[in-house]
Amino acid sequence: MKTIDLHKNLLLAYTESSDGNMDERFNDKAQVMSNRRKIYNQFDLNPRTVIEAKQIHSDRILKLTEDNTKMWVGNNIPGVDGFITNQPEAALLLKVADCLPVIIYDPDHHVFGIFHVGWQGAIKNIHLKGLSQMEEEYESNPGKLLVWLGPSACGNCYESIEKPEQVGDQNWKPFIKKKSNKWKIDVEGYVTESLKQAGIKSKSIKSEKRCTIEDEGLFSHTRSKSSEQYPEARFLILAKLR
Ligand SMILES: [Zn+2]
Repeated sequence: MKTIDLHKNLLLAYTESSDGNMDERFNDKAQVMSNRRKIYNQFDLNPRTVIEAKQIHSDRILKLTEDNTKMWVGNNIPGVDGFITNQPEAALLLKVADCLPVIIYDPDHHVFGIFHVGWQGAIKNIHLKGLSQMEEEYESNPGKLLVWLGPSACGNCYESIEKPEQVGDQNWKPFIKKKSNKWKIDVEGYVTESLKQAGIKSKSIKSEKRCTIEDEGLFSHTRSKSSEQYPEARFLILAKLR
């Protein structure tokens, strides 16, 4: 487990392979619960108060308010891939293994957003939609926001045999390269550039720079497909106001 010091008022951490699989789709539930409990205990979190997204590679973002946070605690919410909130009790989770986790924190208004940006999410610009929602709902000013980009598949490793649908899109052009009949896609590069275009300062974007496909200290969906040596699993991103 690694804790990230993006801002003193935001608890931010992610688990690693050594913490075990965190997704009950790929292990028995008791094992996953036990793996998770160790992490929750480190932060004094009640497991019943954690809220997670049952991610579907959509661009749907749920705003957690005082009223609906009470309703959603302890749930794995179907059909969403991100949250924005100003609720201090909302401990929010994503499960990833190659997709890019994006956190946007607004220190002035003490609110944050957490977004699951996979290939599909990046095409749908869920991170930009999340940013716009923070501007609308909390009057966040992009120039004052802090961003953390978690571990994900890097632009050298992430490849597709099929031609990506956004290959003709000018905004994507610098981040898609063709190499011996395969397409290399740099999702983090695209997300970083698009956030800068939206007004976030370069110096405010912090990247973990750990490639999930190369780094066996993390789980990778791509690596799990390449060899039985690597079982399918997910690690957690955990974020909470403090
Ligand atoms: Zn890589």
